[in-house]
Amino acid sequence: MNRKLKKGKKLNKEMKPMKEIRTTKSKFVRVRCPKCKSEQIIFGKATTKVRCLKCNYLLAKPSGGKAKIRARILEVFK
Ligand SMILES: [Zn+2]
Repeated sequence: MNRKLKKGKKLNKEMKPMKEIRTTKSKFVRVRCPKCKSEQIIFGKATTKVRCLKCNYLLAKPSGGKAKIRARILEVFK
């Protein structure tokens, strides 16, 4: 359990650091499209493909009940 905790001093009170999640059980995540860099909030349990509103890049696709996020996750909403 030797993870870098430099950045998470405020947010780490009760939650494990969750930075590089690929799949999520959370409801909503804010992601940044790797293609056009626009941010948008997507549903973390998407059962359909989620595409970027601007450039149509595939941001998430369903994977066994969870969404597989293909974009950078900026924030996770509980
Ligand atoms: Zn985009």
